[in-house]
Amino acid sequence: ARFEDLNLSAELLKGLYVEMKFEKPSKIQAISLPMILSPPHKDLIAQAHNGSGKTTCFVLGMLSRVDPKVQAPQALCICPTRELALQNTAVLRKMGKYTGIASECAVPTDKDAVHVSKRAPIMAQVVIGTPGTIKKFISFKKLGASRLKILVFDEADQMLAEDGFQDDSLRIMKEIQRVNPSCQVLLFSATFNDIVKNFVSRTVKRDHNQLF
Ligand code: AMP
Repeated sequence: ARFEDLNLSAELLKGLYVEMKFEKPSKIQAISLPMILSPPHKDLIAQAHNGSGKTTCFVLGMLSRVDPKVQAPQALCICPTRELALQNTAVLRKMGKYTGIASECAVPTDKDAVHVSKRAPIMAQVVIGTPGTIKKFISFKKLGASRLKILVFDEADQMLAEDGFQDDSLRIMKEIQRVNPSCQVLLFSATFNDIVKNFVSRTVKRDHNQLF
């Protein structure tokens, strides 16, 4: 397979070749991208370990689904750790360098930072963060869910292993589905234990794609 066959914009192809220096899609990229990008944009549950190239799947998914003319959050990615959120943001900015799409990383900040309630709402088109911080942004109405088209859970098994994060993730998911039932959900996990299966069955109800 070639990246040219995956319906990606010229700006994203340039990002893949020039910035990332990727030559061709990995297996999971070749299989998942048509599922993510083609209507009706079904939800996707995918088992993917580190090194499979999963990050590129959801980064391309988010960057492709964003309308660059709309200045509001349209893609949201939830990660289990601050480090992973920062790392995913760096990948997205590099891969998306030629798209002009704005992104913001929402992770816990030091105690001197302006409290969420006092800051301006997020206008960036892609938001990447950790469950507690994202939940806080949503509850203070600093992150609007009404324009979201795609919601990604990265390393879901790691995230759901922490009780607090499981709660936050469930709340974020329920709130987004309430405001915006058509929002596409992508969930990536290295393992599918009972906790992950339970989360999926509580949140992903409609017809979806599965990759194991
Ligand atoms: P991931 O599983 O997303 O953490 O990616 C694992 C590693 O593979 C990262 O260092 C990526 O930069 C690299 N990678 C992902 N997709 C490709 C590709 N299509 N061609 C070459 N390297 C890739």
